[in-house]
Amino acid sequence: MTAVQPKPTSVGETFDSLSPATDEVVGTYPVHTAEDVRAAVERARVAAEWWEGLGFAGRADRLRQWKGVITRRLPQLCQVVRDETGKPIADAQLESVLAIEHIAWAAKHARKYLGRQRRSAGLLMSNQAATVEYRPLGVVGVIGPWNYPVYTPLGSVTYALAAGNAVVFKPSEYTPGVGKWLVDAFNEVVPEQPVLQLITGFGETGGALVTSGVDKIAFTGSTATGKKIMAAAANTLTPVVIEAGGKDPVLVDADANLDAAADATVWGAFSNSGQTCIGVERVYVHERVHDEFVAKVVEKSQNVRAGSDEDAQYGPVTMPSQLAVIRRHIADALERGGRAVLGGVDSVGDRYAQPTILVDVPEDSEAVREETFGPTVTIAKVRDMDEAVDKANATTYGLGSTVFSKSRGVELAARLRTGMTSINAPLSFAGIASLPFGGVGDSGFGRIHGPEGLREFARTKAVARQRFTAPITLTSFSRKESTDALVAKLITVMHGKR
Ligand code: NAD
Repeated sequence: MTAVQPKPTSVGETFDSLSPATDEVVGTYPVHTAEDVRAAVERARVAAEWWEGLGFAGRADRLRQWKGVITRRLPQLCQVVRDETGKPIADAQLESVLAIEHIAWAAKHARKYLGRQRRSAGLLMSNQAATVEYRPLGVVGVIGPWNYPVYTPLGSVTYALAAGNAVVFKPSEYTPGVGKWLVDAFNEVVPEQPVLQLITGFGETGGALVTSGVDKIAFTGSTATGKKIMAAAANTLTPVVIEAGGKDPVLVDADANLDAAADATVWGAFSNSGQTCIGVERVYVHERVHDEFVAKVVEKSQNVRAGSDEDAQYGPVTMPSQLAVIRRHIADALERGGRAVLGGVDSVGDRYAQPTILVDVPEDSEAVREETFGPTVTIAKVRDMDEAVDKANATTYGLGSTVFSKSRGVELAARLRTGMTSINAPLSFAGIASLPFGGVGDSGFGRIHGPEGLREFARTKAVARQRFTAPITLTSFSRKESTDALVAKLITVMHGKR
Protein backbone atom coordinates (compact mmCIF):
# COMPACT_ATOMS: atom_id res chain seq x y z
CA MET A 1 0.00 0.00 0.00
CA THR A 2 1.15 3.54 -0.66
CA ALA A 3 0.31 6.44 1.61
CA VAL A 4 -1.13 8.49 -1.23
CA GLN A 5 -3.33 7.17 -4.04
CA PRO A 6 -1.77 6.86 -7.52
CA LYS A 7 -1.57 10.18 -9.30
CA PRO A 8 -4.89 11.06 -10.93
CA THR A 9 -4.46 12.84 -14.25
CA SER A 10 -7.82 13.94 -15.60
CA VAL A 11 -9.68 17.14 -14.79
CA GLY A 12 -12.07 16.96 -11.88
CA GLU A 13 -10.21 14.13 -10.17
CA THR A 14 -9.73 13.80 -6.45
CA PHE A 15 -7.15 12.11 -4.26
CA ASP A 16 -7.36 10.46 -0.88
CA SER A 17 -5.29 11.43 2.12
CA LEU A 18 -4.37 8.28 4.02
CA SER A 19 -3.21 7.73 7.58
CA PRO A 20 0.40 6.49 7.38
CA ALA A 21 -0.25 4.47 10.54
CA THR A 22 -3.27 2.52 9.24
CA ASP A 23 -3.69 3.34 5.52
CA GLU A 24 -7.22 4.41 6.39
CA VAL A 25 -8.66 7.18 4.16
CA VAL A 26 -8.88 10.30 6.34
CA GLY A 27 -10.02 12.75 3.67
CA THR A 28 -10.60 13.28 -0.05
CA TYR A 29 -9.51 16.45 -1.83
CA PRO A 30 -9.62 17.87 -5.35
CA VAL A 31 -6.64 17.76 -7.67
CA HIS A 32 -6.68 21.38 -8.73
CA THR A 33 -5.79 22.05 -12.34
CA ALA A 34 -3.69 24.87 -13.77
CA GLU A 35 -6.95 26.64 -14.64
CA ASP A 36 -8.20 26.31 -11.04
CA VAL A 37 -4.90 27.71 -9.81
CA ARG A 38 -5.02 30.70 -12.17
CA ALA A 39 -8.60 31.45 -11.07
CA ALA A 40 -7.50 31.33 -7.42
CA VAL A 41 -4.64 33.74 -8.12
CA GLU A 42 -7.03 36.13 -9.92
CA ARG A 43 -9.38 36.11 -6.94
CA ALA A 44 -6.38 36.66 -4.69
CA ARG A 45 -5.41 39.81 -6.65
CA VAL A 46 -8.68 41.49 -5.67
CA ALA A 47 -8.42 40.18 -2.11
CA ALA A 48 -4.85 41.48 -1.83
CA GLU A 49 -5.95 45.07 -2.44
CA TRP A 50 -8.66 44.79 0.17
CA TRP A 51 -6.27 43.18 2.69
CA GLU A 52 -3.62 45.84 2.09
CA GLY A 53 -6.30 48.47 2.67
CA LEU A 54 -6.91 47.15 6.20
CA GLY A 55 -3.51 48.52 7.20
CA PHE A 56 -1.19 47.12 9.83
CA ALA A 57 -3.70 47.50 12.67
CA GLY A 58 -6.60 45.91 10.77
CA ARG A 59 -4.48 42.98 9.64
CA ALA A 60 -2.98 42.47 13.09
CA ASP A 61 -6.49 42.32 14.52
CA ARG A 62 -7.53 39.56 12.08
CA LEU A 63 -4.29 37.63 12.59
CA ARG A 64 -4.86 37.74 16.36
CA GLN A 65 -8.40 36.45 15.89
CA TRP A 66 -7.05 33.61 13.73
CA LYS A 67 -4.50 32.76 16.41
CA GLY A 68 -7.33 32.69 18.97
CA VAL A 69 -9.40 30.25 16.90
CA ILE A 70 -6.40 27.95 16.39
CA THR A 71 -5.56 28.07 20.09
CA ARG A 72 -9.08 27.33 21.28
CA ARG A 73 -9.41 24.39 18.86
CA LEU A 74 -5.90 23.06 19.35
CA PRO A 75 -6.98 19.47 20.21
CA GLN A 76 -8.96 19.31 16.96
CA LEU A 77 -6.02 20.57 14.88
CA CYS A 78 -3.64 18.15 16.61
CA GLN A 79 -5.93 15.25 15.77
CA VAL A 80 -5.94 16.21 12.07
CA VAL A 81 -2.13 16.39 12.16
CA ARG A 82 -1.96 12.98 13.84
CA ASP A 83 -4.42 11.47 11.37
CA GLU A 84 -2.36 12.58 8.37
CA THR A 85 1.22 12.21 9.69
CA GLY A 86 0.86 9.61 12.44
CA LYS A 87 2.90 11.76 14.86
CA PRO A 88 2.05 11.79 18.59
CA ILE A 89 -0.51 14.38 19.69
CA ALA A 90 2.08 16.02 21.96
CA ASP A 91 4.37 16.62 18.96
CA ALA A 92 1.48 17.99 16.91
CA GLN A 93 0.77 20.33 19.81
CA LEU A 94 4.39 21.47 20.04
CA GLU A 95 4.59 22.51 16.38
CA SER A 96 1.17 24.19 16.58
CA VAL A 97 2.13 26.13 19.71
CA LEU A 98 5.25 27.44 17.97
CA ALA A 99 3.15 28.44 14.94
CA ILE A 100 0.72 30.33 17.21
CA GLU A 101 3.67 32.20 18.75
CA HIS A 102 4.78 33.19 15.25
CA ILE A 103 1.33 34.51 14.32
CA ALA A 104 1.37 36.61 17.50
CA TRP A 105 4.87 37.93 16.79
CA ALA A 106 4.22 38.77 13.15
CA ALA A 107 0.94 40.53 13.98
CA LYS A 108 2.64 42.61 16.67
CA HIS A 109 5.81 43.55 14.78
CA ALA A 110 4.74 44.03 11.15
CA ARG A 111 4.34 47.80 11.49
CA LYS A 112 7.67 48.20 13.28
CA TYR A 113 9.69 46.41 10.60
CA LEU A 114 7.68 47.22 7.49
CA GLY A 115 6.31 50.69 8.23
CA ARG A 116 7.91 53.89 6.94
CA GLN A 117 11.33 54.64 8.41
CA ARG A 118 13.54 57.72 8.09
CA ARG A 119 17.07 57.41 6.78
CA SER A 120 19.87 59.94 6.90
CA ALA A 121 20.18 61.77 3.53
CA GLY A 122 23.87 62.65 4.00
CA LEU A 123 25.58 66.04 3.82
CA LEU A 124 25.49 66.50 0.03
CA MET A 125 21.76 65.71 -0.08
CA SER A 126 20.81 67.38 3.19
CA ASN A 127 17.90 69.23 1.54
CA GLN A 128 16.15 65.83 1.11
CA ALA A 129 14.06 63.78 3.50
CA ALA A 130 14.83 60.10 2.93
CA THR A 131 12.44 57.30 3.87
CA VAL A 132 12.09 53.60 3.20
CA GLU A 133 9.07 51.39 3.59
CA TYR A 134 8.17 47.80 2.77
CA ARG A 135 5.08 47.46 0.60
CA PRO A 136 3.21 44.19 0.02
CA LEU A 137 4.18 42.22 -3.06
CA GLY A 138 0.58 41.32 -3.93
CA VAL A 139 -0.09 37.58 -4.15
CA VAL A 140 2.28 35.03 -2.64
CA GLY A 141 2.15 31.33 -3.51
CA VAL A 142 3.14 29.04 -0.63
CA ILE A 143 4.06 25.40 -1.30
CA GLY A 144 4.46 23.29 1.82
CA PRO A 145 5.85 19.94 2.98
CA TRP A 146 4.15 17.36 5.21
CA ASN A 147 6.67 16.81 8.02
CA TYR A 148 5.57 19.81 10.14
CA PRO A 149 2.35 20.64 8.29
CA VAL A 150 1.39 23.45 10.71
CA TYR A 151 4.66 25.08 11.78
CA THR A 152 6.48 24.97 8.45
CA PRO A 153 4.01 26.38 5.91
CA LEU A 154 2.67 28.88 8.44
CA GLY A 155 6.20 30.30 8.69
CA SER A 156 5.64 31.60 5.16
CA VAL A 157 1.84 32.04 5.17
CA THR A 158 1.76 34.08 8.39
CA TYR A 159 4.62 36.40 7.49
CA ALA A 160 3.30 36.94 3.94
CA LEU A 161 -0.14 37.81 5.34
CA ALA A 162 1.29 40.11 8.02
CA ALA A 163 3.23 41.92 5.28
CA GLY A 164 -0.10 42.67 3.54
CA ASN A 165 -0.19 40.00 0.83
CA ALA A 166 -2.92 37.59 -0.18
CA VAL A 167 -1.77 33.96 -0.15
CA VAL A 168 -2.59 30.93 -2.28
CA PHE A 169 -1.44 27.91 -0.31
CA LYS A 170 -0.74 24.42 -1.63
CA PRO A 171 -0.06 22.02 1.24
CA SER A 172 1.69 18.70 0.65
CA GLU A 173 -0.43 15.95 -0.89
CA TYR A 174 0.27 14.01 2.33
CA THR A 175 -1.32 16.67 4.57
CA PRO A 176 -4.10 18.44 2.65
CA GLY A 177 -6.47 18.11 5.61
CA VAL A 178 -4.18 20.13 7.88
CA GLY A 179 -3.89 22.82 5.18
CA LYS A 180 -7.66 22.95 4.80
CA TRP A 181 -8.19 23.18 8.54
CA LEU A 182 -5.84 26.17 8.82
CA VAL A 183 -7.33 27.97 5.81
CA ASP A 184 -10.90 27.38 7.01
CA ALA A 185 -10.00 28.80 10.43
CA PHE A 186 -8.56 31.92 8.77
CA ASN A 187 -11.61 32.38 6.56
CA GLU A 188 -13.83 32.34 9.63
CA VAL A 189 -12.16 35.51 10.86
CA VAL A 190 -11.66 37.04 7.39
CA PRO A 191 -14.95 36.21 5.63
CA GLU A 192 -15.02 39.29 3.37
CA GLN A 193 -12.41 38.29 0.77
CA PRO A 194 -10.41 35.15 -0.14
CA VAL A 195 -7.21 36.50 1.38
CA LEU A 196 -5.92 32.99 2.14
CA GLN A 197 -6.95 30.26 -0.31
CA LEU A 198 -6.26 26.56 -0.43
CA ILE A 199 -5.37 24.60 -3.53
CA THR A 200 -4.71 20.88 -3.31
CA GLY A 201 -3.01 18.32 -5.49
CA PHE A 202 0.38 16.93 -6.38
CA GLY A 203 3.55 18.38 -7.89
CA GLU A 204 1.71 19.47 -11.05
CA THR A 205 -0.61 21.68 -9.02
CA GLY A 206 2.41 23.18 -7.25
CA GLY A 207 4.06 23.68 -10.63
CA ALA A 208 0.96 25.50 -11.90
CA LEU A 209 1.16 27.84 -8.91
CA VAL A 210 4.79 28.68 -9.72
CA THR A 211 3.86 29.79 -13.26
CA SER A 212 0.52 31.37 -12.39
CA GLY A 213 1.78 34.94 -12.19
CA VAL A 214 2.09 35.16 -8.40
CA ASP A 215 4.48 37.81 -7.13
CA LYS A 216 6.59 35.40 -5.11
CA ILE A 217 6.80 31.69 -4.35
CA ALA A 218 7.70 30.50 -0.87
CA PHE A 219 8.67 26.86 -1.14
CA THR A 220 9.52 24.44 1.64
CA GLY A 221 10.45 20.90 0.69
CA SER A 222 13.25 18.88 -0.82
CA THR A 223 16.28 20.39 -2.52
CA ALA A 224 15.46 18.51 -5.75
CA THR A 225 12.00 20.07 -5.97
CA GLY A 226 13.42 23.47 -4.98
CA LYS A 227 15.69 23.38 -8.03
CA LYS A 228 12.76 22.55 -10.32
CA ILE A 229 10.72 25.39 -8.85
CA MET A 230 13.53 27.88 -9.28
CA ALA A 231 14.00 26.84 -12.90
CA ALA A 232 10.27 27.16 -13.62
CA ALA A 233 10.11 30.55 -11.87
CA ALA A 234 13.02 31.89 -13.91
CA ASN A 235 10.87 32.29 -17.04
CA THR A 236 8.78 34.99 -15.42
CA LEU A 237 11.49 36.27 -13.03
CA THR A 238 9.19 35.28 -10.18
CA PRO A 239 11.26 35.54 -6.99
CA VAL A 240 11.46 32.48 -4.75
CA VAL A 241 12.27 31.60 -1.17
CA ILE A 242 13.66 28.08 -0.96
CA GLU A 243 13.56 26.33 2.41
CA ALA A 244 15.05 22.96 1.53
CA GLY A 245 16.72 19.97 3.13
CA GLY A 246 19.52 19.69 5.65
CA LYS A 247 22.19 17.45 7.14
CA ASP A 248 22.48 19.18 10.47
CA PRO A 249 25.50 18.53 12.68
CA VAL A 250 25.97 18.66 16.44
CA LEU A 251 29.43 19.52 17.81
CA VAL A 252 30.32 18.23 21.26
CA ASP A 253 33.38 19.85 22.85
CA ALA A 254 35.53 18.27 25.58
CA ASP A 255 34.03 20.58 28.22
CA ALA A 256 30.40 20.06 27.16
CA ASN A 257 27.62 18.94 29.46
CA LEU A 258 27.50 15.43 28.05
CA ASP A 259 24.11 14.54 29.49
CA ALA A 260 22.53 17.58 27.88
CA ALA A 261 24.35 16.95 24.59
CA ALA A 262 23.30 13.28 24.54
CA ASP A 263 19.71 14.16 25.37
CA ALA A 264 19.64 16.77 22.57
CA THR A 265 21.13 14.29 20.12
CA VAL A 266 18.58 11.59 20.91
CA TRP A 267 15.65 13.98 20.64
CA GLY A 268 17.02 15.86 17.64
CA ALA A 269 17.76 12.66 15.72
CA PHE A 270 14.73 10.50 16.52
CA SER A 271 11.77 12.79 17.26
CA ASN A 272 9.23 12.92 14.43
CA SER A 273 10.93 9.75 13.15
CA GLY A 274 13.88 11.89 12.07
CA GLN A 275 11.67 13.66 9.53
CA THR A 276 12.85 17.10 10.56
CA CYS A 277 14.68 19.45 8.19
CA ILE A 278 16.70 20.70 11.16
CA GLY A 279 16.93 17.24 12.73
CA VAL A 280 20.26 15.96 14.02
CA GLU A 281 21.88 13.67 11.43
CA ARG A 282 25.61 13.89 12.30
CA VAL A 283 27.53 14.37 15.55
CA TYR A 284 31.23 15.29 15.90
CA VAL A 285 32.61 14.65 19.37
CA HIS A 286 35.95 15.60 20.92
CA GLU A 287 38.05 12.44 21.34
CA ARG A 288 38.43 13.02 25.10
CA VAL A 289 34.68 12.54 25.66
CA HIS A 290 33.66 10.50 22.61
CA ASP A 291 33.25 7.07 24.22
CA GLU A 292 31.42 8.42 27.25
CA PHE A 293 29.14 10.45 24.97
CA VAL A 294 28.30 7.44 22.73
CA ALA A 295 27.47 5.37 25.81
CA LYS A 296 25.12 8.08 27.06
CA VAL A 297 23.38 8.42 23.69
CA VAL A 298 22.85 4.66 23.49
CA GLU A 299 21.58 4.52 27.04
CA LYS A 300 19.13 7.42 26.53
CA SER A 301 17.86 5.81 23.31
CA GLN A 302 16.89 2.54 24.99
CA ASN A 303 13.40 3.75 25.81
CA VAL A 304 12.78 5.59 22.57
CA ARG A 305 10.44 3.66 20.32
CA ALA A 306 8.40 4.18 17.17
CA GLY A 307 4.80 3.02 17.20
CA SER A 308 1.16 3.94 16.87
CA ASP A 309 0.28 3.55 20.57
CA GLU A 310 0.06 6.45 22.99
CA ASP A 311 3.33 5.50 24.72
CA ALA A 312 5.43 5.56 21.54
CA GLN A 313 7.84 8.50 21.34
CA TYR A 314 7.40 8.90 17.62
CA GLY A 315 5.23 7.63 14.80
CA PRO A 316 5.58 6.11 11.35
CA VAL A 317 7.69 7.18 8.42
CA THR A 318 5.12 9.26 6.59
CA MET A 319 6.36 8.69 3.04
CA PRO A 320 6.75 4.95 2.37
CA SER A 321 9.40 5.61 -0.31
CA GLN A 322 11.65 7.09 2.40
CA LEU A 323 11.99 3.71 4.14
CA ALA A 324 14.16 2.49 1.28
CA VAL A 325 16.40 5.57 1.55
CA ILE A 326 16.88 5.04 5.29
CA ARG A 327 17.66 1.35 4.76
CA ARG A 328 20.13 2.19 1.96
CA HIS A 329 22.02 4.76 4.06
CA ILE A 330 22.40 2.35 6.98
CA ALA A 331 23.48 -0.52 4.71
CA ASP A 332 26.03 1.67 2.90
CA ALA A 333 27.48 2.86 6.23
CA LEU A 334 27.83 -0.71 7.51
CA GLU A 335 29.32 -2.05 4.28
CA ARG A 336 31.97 0.63 4.38
CA GLY A 337 33.22 -0.11 7.86
CA GLY A 338 30.68 1.64 10.06
CA ARG A 339 29.19 -0.02 13.13
CA ALA A 340 25.66 0.15 14.47
CA VAL A 341 25.83 0.56 18.26
CA LEU A 342 22.05 0.58 18.26
CA GLY A 343 19.64 -0.66 15.59
CA GLY A 344 20.73 -1.35 12.02
CA VAL A 345 19.12 -2.25 8.73
CA ASP A 346 16.59 -4.52 10.45
CA SER A 347 15.32 -1.57 12.48
CA VAL A 348 13.63 -0.25 9.36
CA GLY A 349 10.29 -1.99 8.92
CA ASP A 350 7.42 -1.51 6.48
CA ARG A 351 5.97 1.47 8.27
CA TYR A 352 8.08 2.26 11.32
CA ALA A 353 11.81 2.73 11.74
CA GLN A 354 13.34 2.17 15.18
CA PRO A 355 16.37 4.28 16.25
CA THR A 356 19.76 3.53 14.70
CA ILE A 357 23.08 4.92 15.99
CA LEU A 358 26.11 4.54 13.72
CA VAL A 359 29.80 5.07 14.56
CA ASP A 360 33.04 4.85 12.56
CA VAL A 361 31.17 5.76 9.38
CA PRO A 362 33.39 7.12 6.56
CA GLU A 363 32.73 10.79 5.90
CA ASP A 364 32.08 10.19 2.21
CA SER A 365 29.30 7.63 2.77
CA GLU A 366 25.66 8.38 2.01
CA ALA A 367 24.75 8.34 5.70
CA VAL A 368 27.04 11.32 6.27
CA ARG A 369 26.62 13.23 3.02
CA GLU A 370 22.94 12.88 2.07
CA GLU A 371 19.79 13.84 3.93
CA THR A 372 18.50 10.57 5.46
CA PHE A 373 15.28 12.03 6.87
CA GLY A 374 14.87 9.07 9.18
CA PRO A 375 15.61 8.12 12.82
CA THR A 376 19.34 7.53 12.34
CA VAL A 377 22.43 9.41 13.48
CA THR A 378 26.16 9.08 12.84
CA ILE A 379 28.62 9.88 15.63
CA ALA A 380 32.27 10.57 14.75
CA LYS A 381 35.35 11.11 16.92
CA VAL A 382 37.41 14.24 16.23
CA ARG A 383 40.87 15.33 17.43
CA ASP A 384 39.74 18.83 18.29
CA MET A 385 37.00 21.30 17.53
CA ASP A 386 38.79 22.64 14.44
CA GLU A 387 38.39 19.23 12.87
CA ALA A 388 34.77 19.17 14.04
CA VAL A 389 34.07 22.51 12.34
CA ASP A 390 35.80 21.41 9.12
CA LYS A 391 33.84 18.16 8.96
CA ALA A 392 30.55 19.81 9.91
CA ASN A 393 31.06 22.35 7.09
CA ALA A 394 32.08 19.74 4.51
CA THR A 395 28.55 19.34 3.17
CA THR A 396 26.53 20.91 0.40
CA TYR A 397 23.79 21.68 2.94
CA GLY A 398 23.79 24.45 5.52
CA LEU A 399 20.52 24.69 7.41
CA GLY A 400 20.87 24.39 11.20
CA SER A 401 23.55 23.24 13.63
CA THR A 402 24.08 22.80 17.36
CA VAL A 403 27.14 23.31 19.54
CA PHE A 404 27.65 21.90 23.02
CA SER A 405 30.59 23.67 24.65
CA LYS A 406 30.93 25.51 27.94
CA SER A 407 33.73 27.86 26.88
CA ARG A 408 33.69 28.13 23.08
CA GLY A 409 30.02 27.98 22.07
CA VAL A 410 29.75 31.42 20.46
CA GLU A 411 33.08 31.12 18.65
CA LEU A 412 32.28 27.69 17.21
CA ALA A 413 28.76 28.77 16.21
CA ALA A 414 30.19 31.68 14.20
CA ARG A 415 32.44 29.29 12.25
CA LEU A 416 29.65 26.96 11.18
CA ARG A 417 28.38 27.58 7.65
CA THR A 418 24.69 27.23 8.47
CA GLY A 419 21.79 29.65 8.61
CA MET A 420 21.11 28.92 12.28
CA THR A 421 22.95 27.53 15.30
CA SER A 422 21.79 26.76 18.81
CA ILE A 423 24.28 26.57 21.65
CA ASN A 424 23.90 24.13 24.56
CA ALA A 425 20.26 23.28 23.71
CA PRO A 426 18.60 21.50 20.80
CA LEU A 427 17.00 23.45 17.92
CA SER A 428 16.18 26.43 20.15
CA PHE A 429 16.46 28.96 17.30
CA ALA A 430 13.32 27.42 15.78
CA GLY A 431 11.24 28.42 18.80
CA ILE A 432 12.28 32.08 18.84
CA ALA A 433 9.90 34.05 16.63
CA SER A 434 12.21 37.04 16.27
CA LEU A 435 15.00 34.93 14.71
CA PRO A 436 15.14 34.41 10.94
CA PHE A 437 14.89 30.82 9.73
CA GLY A 438 16.62 29.52 6.60
CA GLY A 439 19.78 28.06 5.17
CA VAL A 440 22.59 28.33 2.66
CA GLY A 441 23.80 26.10 -0.20
CA ASP A 442 21.56 23.11 -0.93
CA SER A 443 19.42 24.09 2.07
CA GLY A 444 18.13 27.05 0.06
CA PHE A 445 18.03 30.80 0.54
CA GLY A 446 15.78 33.55 1.77
CA ARG A 447 14.36 33.73 5.28
CA ILE A 448 11.06 33.18 7.04
CA HIS A 449 10.36 34.32 10.65
CA GLY A 450 11.54 37.48 12.38
CA PRO A 451 12.03 40.90 10.73
CA GLU A 452 13.84 39.26 7.80
CA GLY A 453 10.85 36.95 7.29
CA LEU A 454 8.48 39.91 7.11
CA ARG A 455 10.69 41.75 4.63
CA GLU A 456 11.04 38.62 2.49
CA PHE A 457 7.41 39.16 1.52
CA ALA A 458 7.64 42.87 0.82
CA ARG A 459 9.06 45.15 -1.84
CA THR A 460 11.45 47.74 -0.54
CA LYS A 461 10.33 51.23 -1.48
CA ALA A 462 12.78 54.13 -1.16
CA VAL A 463 11.48 57.72 -1.30
CA ALA A 464 13.49 60.96 -1.35
CA ARG A 465 11.42 64.12 -0.76
CA GLN A 466 12.94 67.53 -1.40
CA ARG A 467 12.43 69.70 1.66
CA PHE A 468 13.93 72.93 0.24
CA THR A 469 15.89 74.00 -2.82
CA ALA A 470 19.59 73.38 -2.33
CA PRO A 471 21.95 76.37 -2.56
CA ILE A 472 23.88 74.46 -5.22
CA THR A 473 22.06 72.47 -7.91
CA LEU A 474 23.80 69.28 -9.00
CA THR A 475 21.20 67.56 -11.16
CA SER A 476 20.59 70.15 -13.90
CA PHE A 477 22.20 71.16 -17.19
CA SER A 478 22.20 74.67 -15.75
CA ARG A 479 24.85 73.55 -13.28
CA LYS A 480 27.83 75.95 -13.27
CA GLU A 481 31.53 75.17 -13.49
CA SER A 482 31.97 76.90 -10.14
CA THR A 483 29.51 74.36 -8.65
CA ASP A 484 31.59 71.44 -9.96
CA ALA A 485 34.71 73.03 -8.50
CA LEU A 486 32.99 73.50 -5.15
CA VAL A 487 31.81 69.87 -5.14
CA ALA A 488 35.33 68.65 -5.92
CA LYS A 489 36.68 70.67 -2.96
CA LEU A 490 33.95 69.50 -0.65
CA ILE A 491 34.42 65.82 -1.47
CA THR A 492 38.18 66.16 -0.95
CA VAL A 493 37.63 67.65 2.49
CA MET A 494 35.08 64.95 3.34
CA HIS A 495 36.79 61.84 1.96
CA GLY A 496 40.25 62.68 0.72
CA LYS A 497 42.18 62.24 3.95
CA ARG A 498 44.84 59.56 3.97
P1 NAD B 1 8.84 17.63 -1.69
O1 NAD B 1 9.87 18.47 -2.34
O2 NAD B 1 8.59 16.27 -2.22
O3 NAD B 1 7.42 18.35 -1.75
C1 NAD B 1 7.18 19.63 -1.17
C2 NAD B 1 6.01 20.29 -1.87
O4 NAD B 1 6.36 20.57 -3.23
C3 NAD B 1 4.74 19.43 -1.93
O5 NAD B 1 3.63 20.26 -1.67
C4 NAD B 1 4.74 18.95 -3.37
O6 NAD B 1 3.46 18.67 -3.87
C5 NAD B 1 5.33 20.14 -4.09
N1 NAD B 1 5.93 19.84 -5.40
C6 NAD B 1 6.50 18.68 -5.82
N2 NAD B 1 6.98 18.83 -7.08
C7 NAD B 1 6.72 20.11 -7.45
C8 NAD B 1 6.98 20.88 -8.63
N3 NAD B 1 7.61 20.36 -9.67
N4 NAD B 1 6.58 22.16 -8.66
C9 NAD B 1 5.96 22.70 -7.60
N5 NAD B 1 5.67 22.04 -6.45
C10 NAD B 1 6.04 20.75 -6.38
O7 NAD B 1 9.22 17.62 -0.16
P2 NAD B 1 8.50 16.84 1.05
O8 NAD B 1 8.82 15.39 0.94
O9 NAD B 1 7.08 17.25 1.15
O10 NAD B 1 9.25 17.45 2.32
C11 NAD B 1 10.42 16.93 2.85
C12 NAD B 1 11.60 17.81 2.53
O11 NAD B 1 11.31 19.12 2.98
C13 NAD B 1 12.88 17.41 3.23
O12 NAD B 1 13.95 17.52 2.34
C14 NAD B 1 13.01 18.45 4.34
O13 NAD B 1 14.33 18.66 4.79
C15 NAD B 1 12.43 19.64 3.70
N6 NAD B 1 11.97 20.62 4.68
C16 NAD B 1 12.66 21.79 4.78
C17 NAD B 1 12.27 22.73 5.73
C18 NAD B 1 13.01 24.06 5.86
O14 NAD B 1 12.46 24.95 6.48
N7 NAD B 1 14.19 24.23 5.30
C19 NAD B 1 11.17 22.47 6.56
C20 NAD B 1 10.51 21.27 6.42
C21 NAD B 1 10.91 20.35 5.47
